[in-house]
Amino acid sequence: MNKIKILHMYADMLDLYGDSGNMEIIAYRCKMRGIECEIDKYSIDSEQPDFSSYDLIYIGGGADLEQQHISEDLVKCRNGIEAAYKNGTFLFLICGGYQLMGKHYRDADGVDIPGLGLFDYYTIAEPNRKKRCIGNVVIRTEFTGKTVDIVGFENHGGQTNGVKTPLGEVLYGHGNCTKSSHEGYFEKNVIATYMHGPCLSKNPEVSDYIIGYCLNRKIDTAIELTPLDDKLENDCRQVMIERLLKK
Ligand code: GLN
Repeated sequence: MNKIKILHMYADMLDLYGDSGNMEIIAYRCKMRGIECEIDKYSIDSEQPDFSSYDLIYIGGGADLEQQHISEDLVKCRNGIEAAYKNGTFLFLICGGYQLMGKHYRDADGVDIPGLGLFDYYTIAEPNRKKRCIGNVVIRTEFTGKTVDIVGFENHGGQTNGVKTPLGEVLYGHGNCTKSSHEGYFEKNVIATYMHGPCLSKNPEVSDYIIGYCLNRKIDTAIELTPLDDKLENDCRQVMIERLLKK
């Protein structure tokens, strides 16, 4: 039987706007296709797992304080996460989790929270707390040659700079910085985004990109995912796209 192994990190601390729902969605879409999905949790002081044994590592978002709380522990996981990423494990990172895989995050109080430095970008929070990037977002991206519009909700003070390969072009909302043209970070085995929602609820193509990658990364002949009935998800997304872009 096909199987995907997931490590969900700091679910008890980084779960803003129901970010954990993303893992419920991945598990549901696997179940509908007869793909086994095992989700392990890791949090502060858990025993260090073998990060490279996972197909997917997932980290959600959180407030500056929660990012400070997990920071010391996350740094201890650096070598394991880096080795897994280099070995082809998929990293799916939301907002606070996205920021902490870069060089560093300087929060709204000016506190420098070290990142793991896996990627070249860095994030500095807007010191004026009234100037946060808050609201709905629509971005346009491409998955394996197909153009896809993704919708979500952002709420961040952090301004992320130095992103060489963004996830998408901003059609509505802010993105990586205030009034930015681009949002998120993308590599074959990395999706990092400011989009909560949870992100996957209205964006089945993102879920299936991740599931497809995880399933196929260890085999030579790619398995096509069985299509699911995504009418509800697509209708929900369309309502938002029309509300935001077609005024
Ligand atoms: N605390 C970070 C910021 O304000 C991340 C917020 C989040 O995860 N939504 O930028």
